[in-house]
Parts: sequence; C-alpha cells; structure tokens
Amino acid sequence: MYYIKDMKNVMEMLFADAGEYNLILGSTGDFAEREIMPSAKKIDQEEIFPGQNLEKVARQGIMAIPFPQEYNGLGLPYPVYIAALEMLAKACANTALQVSIQGMVCEGIRLFGDVKQKKEFLKENGLAEGRSLAAFALTEPCCGSDANSIQTRAQLSGNNYILNGTKTLITSPREADFILLFARTEKGISSFLVSGKTSGFNVAKVIPKLGFRGHRLSEVYLDNCTVPKEDLLGEEGKGLEYAKHILNSGRVTIAAIAIGIAQAAYEKALSYSKDRSAFGNSISEYQLVQEKLADMVTGINAARLLTYFAAHLKDKGKNIVSEATQAKLFSTEMALRVCDKAIQIHGGYGYTDEYDIHRHWRDARLLTIGEGTSDILRLLIAHLSLK
Ligand SMILES: Cc1cc2nc3c(=O)[nH]c(=O)nc-3n(C[C@H](O)[C@H](O)[C@H](O)COP(=O)(O)OP(=O)(O)OC[C@H]3O[C@@H](n4cnc5c(N)ncnc54)[C@H](O)[C@@H]3O)c2cc1C
Repeated sequence: MYYIKDMKNVMEMLFADAGEYNLILGSTGDFAEREIMPSAKKIDQEEIFPGQNLEKVARQGIMAIPFPQEYNGLGLPYPVYIAALEMLAKACANTALQVSIQGMVCEGIRLFGDVKQKKEFLKENGLAEGRSLAAFALTEPCCGSDANSIQTRAQLSGNNYILNGTKTLITSPREADFILLFARTEKGISSFLVSGKTSGFNVAKVIPKLGFRGHRLSEVYLDNCTVPKEDLLGEEGKGLEYAKHILNSGRVTIAAIAIGIAQAAYEKALSYSKDRSAFGNSISEYQLVQEKLADMVTGINAARLLTYFAAHLKDKGKNIVSEATQAKLFSTEMALRVCDKAIQIHGGYGYTDEYDIHRHWRDARLLTIGEGTSDILRLLIAHLSLK
C-alpha cells in the first residue's frame, strides 16, 4: 500500500472525520505508485521534463485540491494537498516540484489578483487545475536571499510595462505558460503575470546542476519585454510583500516534498537492510544499522507533524510565517540526513546509479537552498521569536 500509515494517523489527528480525506489520499497514493513512480528514475537520468506525469496529475485533480471551486479547484483542506504532494514527491520529486511551484503561483493570484485576473489565469487558462504550467521568477544574478536588491526594471509606457533585466536560477521557465515575475517599478518591487510567449521574454541559458534533473534551471533575459498594464499583480510596489506571503505556502509545500523524498529513501534503506547480509547476518540485525533506521523514521514523523500543523493553521486563516519557516527548515535538513543514512545503509551500491538511491540525496540537497536558505530561515525564526 503506497499510502503511508503514519500520514493517515496525522490526518485523523487533524480532522474529526478524516474518512473522506483518507479515501482521496488512498487513491492518490495508488495513482502515484502506478502512474508516476515508474518514470522517476528515467526522468532524472535522461533529464526529461516530467510533462507527461504532470498531465496525469492534472487529470487526477491533484493540482486543484486546495483552490476554490469557482476557479475549478476542489476546495479541499490544505493538509490534504500537502499529503498528496508528499506522496507525489515520494514517487517522483521532479513531478512534485512543479506542482509546488504551480501551487505557489496560483496562491499568489488567489490572494492578490483582482477578480478578472483570478478568472482569467486560475480558471480560463487552467492554472489551478494544471491545464497550463507556471514558473516563479524572483532570483537574479546579483541576489537571491537579498531579494530587496533585484535590479530588473519595469517602466510604465502607455498601457504597458516594459521589462528589462536578467533572472537566473529559474525552474523550467521555457516549459511554463505563465511566469510570476518580479521587477522594480517607480514605487518599488512589483509582481507581474507574464506569458511565456511574450516578445522580449527569452530563456537564454540552461544551467547544469546536481539534482531535480527533470527541470531545466534557466536564465531568463528580458529585452524590452512588453507586459500589459492589467497583468500587474495587485498594487505597484507591493511585490516583495506578496512574495513573502506566497513563500509561506511555498515553504509548506517544499517541506512536504522533503518528507516524501525522505520517506522514499527510508523505505528503500529499510528493505535493503533486510535483504543484505554481512558477516553471516542480515545487516538489519546490527544495532548500528537499526540506530540509523530509528533516527530516519523519527525524523520523518517529526517533520510531518510540523508540516501538517503549519498546513492546518493556514486552513484556519492564521499567520503561519514562523510555522511554515520552521516546517521547511526542519523537514529539508531532516531529508538530507535521512538520504545520507540511506546511502550509507546501501554501502557502495548506494553510490551507484543502479540503485538510484543517490537521486533522493541530490534532490533533497536543493531543498535547504531554494525558497529561503536554511541560514535565512534561521534568521527569520529567531527574529520572529525575539520580536
Ligand atoms: C535548482 C534551483 C532551482 C531554483 N528555482 C528558482 C525559481 O524557480 N525561482 C527563483 O526565483 N529562484 C530559484 N532558485 C534560486 C534560489 O531561490 C536561490 O538560490 C536562493 O534563494 C539563494 O540565493 P543565492 O543563490 O543568490 O544565494 P545568496 O543569497 O548569495 O547566499 C549565499 C550564501 O550566503 C548565505 N547568506 C546570505 N545572506 C545571509 C545572511 N544575512 N546571514 C547569513 N547567511 C547569509 C546564504 O544562506 C547562502 O548560504 C533556484 C535555485 C536552485 C539551485
């Protein structure tokens, strides 16, 4: 059974009647195992964008889970979405990453878009359901953590903004139909919904990298990129404030991906430890191996509690900035430790492509950097605690 027992227990803790949600998650888990997992290794090794998986995910309704029904969403609680994302990440982290980015962009439109933008982008263009794809473009060559210093400019000219500048380290902008992009206007940093077909929107360079190899990490070159005035998201000058809100949701979804990756690595290590013999015994009988397995599953469940708690508070309309940040910090660092131990339990085979266990470590490694490095998250948590 692909649906994870410990996850089911958390859902039962959160909801008085979790039955309906557990049924949905049961079928999501079966779907992920049957339809998504088989291609995960090939996507990584051959660096294939997981477009086919994403079409299946959209048809299964997973992207739509948390969004309002008026935009063709399913209107289900956020923890259900987080649980589905966890299972997707366990099956194929590359697929889950796009769902996470998509969810973050849709959340931005839902929170800060006007009525027309919500109807146009979430519903008619199918972003909420996943019929079209989204990217998020904040980082620039000068600055990632220090987003306040970005240099891309957007100059109002008649009914359009003219954008010039360079974005870098952007996940799959060429595959995206729409990009939530940040640029400096007269009133400060502002956010724009840019179609990937806009003239002057050029994906200039693909940057080779360690993990998440199904995604093309790219540089975007904006050369008099002309964006209609009505595609400014929310108010001019409030882009960074919006980005911070959007990243609260994004960080909970990154935490869920980390947990899914860790669960995949843990299950493989558990199974391998039973099958592998050394010195006349199964290695699972050695206490130093058992110590690793115990620490792995304990870390995974602790991360689950923090992450589902943050998701639950989000559903209740609470300010989750600290909880989302803690969930992301703890879960991503936990995933790295778990994947490292999983490689160790596999011995030399853990280092080989054949066993595919190092894929989980390589994917997990990004998660302590993207959407806020662990250092920046620690500073934020401390700042909020000291306030
Ligand atoms: C695979 C991948 C996918 C990505 N996808 C996207 C995407 O889709 N969209 C997007 O906008 N960005 C994306 N990014 C960019 C990512 O968000 C940034 O790399 C990240 O925010 C860090 O920024 P930076 O790389 O500029 O590092 P810097 O900000 O230069 O930081 C370098 C180091 O200094 C530390 N540091 C910085 N400031 C402080 C401080 N005040 N105190 C202590 N330590 C500090 C950091 O923690 C880090 O260790 C992606 C990156 C990668 C690797």
